[in-house]
Amino acid sequence: MQSFIEKIIILLSRKKHTALEKLQDNQSLIDTVIHEIPSFLVLKDENGDFLLCNRAVAEFYGTKPEAMVGKHDDDFGVPKEIADNFRNNVLSIMKKGQTSIVMEESRDANTGEIRHFRSIKKPFKDANGKNRILVIATDITDVIESQKQVVKSENLLKEVMSIAKEGIWDWNIATGEVANSPQWYTTLRAPTNHKCTYVEEFAALLHPQDRQNVWSKIETLLNGEAQSYFSEHRMIRFDGSEIWVQDRGKIIERDSEGKPLRMVGAFTDISEQKNHQNELEHIAHYDALTALPNRVLYADRLQQALLQSKRRETFVAILYLDLDGFKPINDAYGHDIGDILLIDVSQRVLARLREGDTLSRLGGDEFSVILADLTSPTEALPILNRILKSFEEPLIINGTTHKVTASVGVTFYPQKGEDIDGDLLIRQADLAMYNAKQSGKNRYHIFDALHDETIRSKHKMVEKIKQALAHDEFVLHFQPKINMHTREILGAEALIRWAQPNEKLIYPLDFLPFIEDEIISIELGEWVIHEALSQLALLEQHNLPISVSVNVSALQLLSGNFAQKLQTILKKFPDANPARLEIEILETSALENLSAAIHVIQECTSMGVQFSLDDFGTGYSSLSYLKRLPISTLKIDQSFIKDIEDNPDDLIIVQGIISLATAFGKKVIAEGVENEKLTSKLLTLGCQMGQGYGIGRPMPIEEFLEWAIQWTNHN
Ligand code: C2E
Ligand code: MG
Ligand code: MG
Repeated sequence: MQSFIEKIIILLSRKKHTALEKLQDNQSLIDTVIHEIPSFLVLKDENGDFLLCNRAVAEFYGTKPEAMVGKHDDDFGVPKEIADNFRNNVLSIMKKGQTSIVMEESRDANTGEIRHFRSIKKPFKDANGKNRILVIATDITDVIESQKQVVKSENLLKEVMSIAKEGIWDWNIATGEVANSPQWYTTLRAPTNHKCTYVEEFAALLHPQDRQNVWSKIETLLNGEAQSYFSEHRMIRFDGSEIWVQDRGKIIERDSEGKPLRMVGAFTDISEQKNHQNELEHIAHYDALTALPNRVLYADRLQQALLQSKRRETFVAILYLDLDGFKPINDAYGHDIGDILLIDVSQRVLARLREGDTLSRLGGDEFSVILADLTSPTEALPILNRILKSFEEPLIINGTTHKVTASVGVTFYPQKGEDIDGDLLIRQADLAMYNAKQSGKNRYHIFDALHDETIRSKHKMVEKIKQALAHDEFVLHFQPKINMHTREILGAEALIRWAQPNEKLIYPLDFLPFIEDEIISIELGEWVIHEALSQLALLEQHNLPISVSVNVSALQLLSGNFAQKLQTILKKFPDANPARLEIEILETSALENLSAAIHVIQECTSMGVQFSLDDFGTGYSSLSYLKRLPISTLKIDQSFIKDIEDNPDDLIIVQGIISLATAFGKKVIAEGVENEKLTSKLLTLGCQMGQGYGIGRPMPIEEFLEWAIQWTNHN
C-alpha cells in the first residue's frame, strides 16, 4: 500500500510540475488509476481544501471530480462538525509532517447514511514547497458493523451467563482457556473471587470414576463422531462434596478446515433427582432388612456370572443357604430378635466372601451366594467351609445367647453336556440344600447331576409301577422244579412279569430294582403271594399237588408284620396247604438283619411255610449264619452251574455247596439247568433237584399245566 501511495505521490508531483493540460488531454495512465480505484483519493492543499478528488469521492459527495477542486467537505453537505474535523486533522498532520492512519466517518450524499473510513493521510511538499496532503480512504462500514454485532452477541452471552440457573462454560479449545458463568462457580461452591481459567482445572473437578467417561464423550464431539455432548456425571465441588450434574455442550466455532475452535455448554445440578432415582433403584434391587441384593438383582448378577463364565471358561458356584433352627427363635423371641439375627447372619457370611461374590437374601431365612470366576469347582470348598464355620460363634442379643447353623446346597456351572439356565441352577442348589438338611443339617451338600437324573427316572418308574398294579398289569409265570433222578415234578417257581397291554413282557430285573426300597414293592410282593396261592389251588384241581415258590424281597420280609400279613392271605385260601408254599429269600436280605430274619422265618415256618435261600453262593455265606437260619433248601446260583463242566473253580464251589447242604441237613437245588448234560453231571455230584430252561422255561399257568401233562407222559 505504502509503495502504491509513494508512486501516486511521485506521479502527482510530476503532474504539477509539467503541464496539467497535457495530462488531461492525453487521458494519461495516472488519471485512469486515480479514478478507477474503489478507495477515495483526495489531494488537499495547505488549507485543507480539495486540489484533486477521484471519481469514488465525487460520487459519494454526489458531484463530479472537477466540481470539487478548491472546495471543502462542508460544501457537499458534510455536517459542519465533521468537515471541521477533517480540516483540523489534515492541518495538524501536515504540520507534524508524518503519515497517519485515521478512522473517521462521513455522510453519503446519495443515501444520507453515515459511513466509516480508514484513511491514510500522507503529508508532502509540492515542487514549490507548498504543503500538500494525500488522503486515501477505504470504506470499512461493513467491518465495523460486524464487529459491533460480535460485541453485541458477546454482551448478550455475558448477560445470559450472569442470570442463567445453569453453570455456563465457554471453552477456547485452541488455547485451553475457559470462561465460566457466576452460577458455574456458585454451583461448584468455588471460594469467592476464585477464577477457573484453564480447562485442566475443570477436569480436576470431575469425579475420578467418571473422568475418563466424560473425556471420551468430549473427544467424540471434538473428532466429529458426535454432534453434541451430553453427560451425567459426578463432580467434586471446591468444598470437597460430591454433586451429580447434567452437562451438555456444542461446538460453536470451527476453523476453515472444520477443526473445532470453541465449545460452549451448560450444566445443572441433578443431585436431588439422582439421589431419588438411586433410592428407588435401591428399593427395587435390595432387601430392606439386610440391604443385600434381592431376588431381582440376584437374578441379574447370576446371569452376568454365567455369561462371564462362558467367556472366560471359568466356573460358577451357586450356594443355597437355609438357616437351621431359625424358626423356633423367631417364634419364641419375636420378629425383632429374628430380624437382628438375620442381619447378623448376612454380615457374617458377607465377611467370608471374596470381592465380587454376591450374597443375596431370597426371602425368610434363605440366602444365596454366587461365587463367580472360579478356576475349578474345588476353589469353592474353602469358602463353603469358612461360611459354615462363621456360624460357630453364638450371637448374644439382649443377654440371650442364640445359635443357628446353616444347611447349604451347592451346584456348579457349567455342567457337562447340559445347557442349563439360572432358574434350574437355583432349583438344583435348593434341592441339594434339602439334602444337606436331611443328612443332619449344619453342612453343605453338593448337587449331583447324574444322581438327579436317576432319581427323576426312578420317580417316574415308581409311579408307573403303582399304576400298573392298580390296573392289574402283572402276571406270574411258573417254572418247573424237578427231581432230575426220578423225573418227578416237585414244584414251580412263580416269577413275576409286567404285561402292559399291547407291549412286550417286561422282566423283573428291568423294573424291580426301581422299587427296591419303595413301599410299593411290599404291596407288589403281597400281590405275588396272593396270586401264587390262588394258582396253587388251580394246580391241585388239575391233580398237580406240587409246591409253589415265591420270591420275597428283604424289605418285604423285614417290614415288621410279614408273618401276620402272610397269615391273613393264607386264611383267604383255606384249601391251600401252607406246606406247599415256599418262600425264596436272597442270602443278602437274610444277612441285612440276621436276628430279625430268623425271627420272621421262624414265625412263618410255624405256620408250615417252607424257606429256601436263593442265589446261594453269590453272597457272603458264612457257616455260622447258615447254621442258625431255619431254611430248608439252598438254591445254587445258576452262574456256577452253567460252567460246571469247563470251569474247575465252579465245580469245586458246587461240590462244596452240596456237601455243606448235606452237612447242615438242607435240601439243595441247582438253578440254570440248561441241558441234559448238566442234569447228568449234577446227579453224579449228588444234586438231585433242578430248575432250568433245559427242563422247562417259566410259563403262564395254562401252559404250565400242559407242560406238566406232557412231561409226565414222556418221563
Ligand atoms: P431267581 O429267583 O433266581 O429266578 C430265576 C431266574 O433265572 C428267572 O429269571 C428265570 O427265568 C431264570 N432262569 C431259570 N432257568 C434258567 C436257565 O436255565 N438259564 C438262564 N439263563 N436263566 C434261567 P427272571 O424271571 O428274569 O427273574 C429274575 C429274578 O427276579 C429272580 O431270580 C428273582 O430274584 C427276581 N424275581 C422274579 N420274580 C420275583 C417276584 O415276584 N418277587 C421278587 N421279589 N423277586 C422276583
Ligand atoms: Mg427265586
Ligand atoms: Mg435264583
